[in-house]
Amino acid sequence: MNIQTIRTKAFQRQSGRCTYCNCPMWQSSPDQYAVEHQVRLSQTHEFQCTAEHLLPRCEGGTDAASNIAAACWFCNSRRHQAKRPLSPEAYRAKVQRRMKKGGWHSARPT
Ligand SMILES: [Zn+2]
Repeated sequence: MNIQTIRTKAFQRQSGRCTYCNCPMWQSSPDQYAVEHQVRLSQTHEFQCTAEHLLPRCEGGTDAASNIAAACWFCNSRRHQAKRPLSPEAYRAKVQRRMKKGGWHSARPT
């Protein structure tokens, strides 16, 4: 399986929601997403579905399906900005704390 197929399967398994922030994501149609979830088109980029490597590639993580979860672009890129990314569990807890305070995404998809 290629990485796109694995990502799509993860997207379906997670009912289209990000493994970290639990927001709905989109795979191919930002326009439709903006209408359906009432966010501005300029904000849809944050919610694009990406293949998240649970064990980062820089730490030897592979493209195997067992190492891939579906995460929104925003959560994925923020996690890997750290020199040593938090574990998926610790990062999810951090994201959830930030979400509660309303300080994570620039928009709240409905
Ligand atoms: Zn997310």
